[in-house]
Amino acid sequence: MTEDLQISKNLIRVQTEIEKVWDESRYVLNNRRKATSTIPNSPQLVAVSKLQPDARVDACLRAGHRVFGENRVQEAKERWNPRKGKYKDLKLHLIGKLQTNKVSDAVAFFDVIEVLDRPKLAEKLSNEMLRQNRRLPCFVQVNTGEEPQKSGVMPADADQFIEFCRNDLKLNVTGLMCIPPVQEESAMHFSLLREISIRHDLPNLSMGMSRDYREAVSLGATSVRLGTAIFGER
Ligand SMILES: *Cc1c(COP(=O)(O)O)cnc(C)c1O
Repeated sequence: MTEDLQISKNLIRVQTEIEKVWDESRYVLNNRRKATSTIPNSPQLVAVSKLQPDARVDACLRAGHRVFGENRVQEAKERWNPRKGKYKDLKLHLIGKLQTNKVSDAVAFFDVIEVLDRPKLAEKLSNEMLRQNRRLPCFVQVNTGEEPQKSGVMPADADQFIEFCRNDLKLNVTGLMCIPPVQEESAMHFSLLREISIRHDLPNLSMGMSRDYREAVSLGATSVRLGTAIFGER
């Protein structure tokens, strides 16, 4: 039960911090956004449970948290399928690279796809969502640091890709996601992502991890993805 106490404390600490930074920055942010894309609610916390022991994840559930991020389809299914029956209000986000041969599983299992990053995947997702009649919210992942080893559409291609996904494929694109390079200041990456979202009037920005979520919230994040800050080291 010490696990429960620690994780409750972490959740409260992080939520308090998110609210505080959001409250300090939202008026400034809203001034620059279109009326349709203000940030009415404080940013959502996506608890990243990948590679964490079940005991910690169950402690987080007992503390009342329901929104989780996983980066592998198979791992996520093994962990969450046994828990879906008990917690009906779970929201599971896919935040890791999606192989095209896992698309059918991913659409059946997840509630939000945060890793829409290439035309071939977009086409598969679109077909599969139609087939399963599950029109999931999707985030376009942008490789803001233009790192060759990282997923995400290049910033120069982002506008065209977003329009292709929305207009041609009729995907339900609701926002953008990025993972800044570890060795750089995150702020310029968050700002770049936000500029793209404003151009397309996209309401959601998934940005900020344990090390930089305060900065992300101050720059307009509508959700942050936190693993270590909630669960401890993986
Ligand atoms: C693992 C992971 C996180 C969480 O990272 P922490 O540093 O533990 O908060 C967030 N987003 C993505 C895409 C991840 O893969």
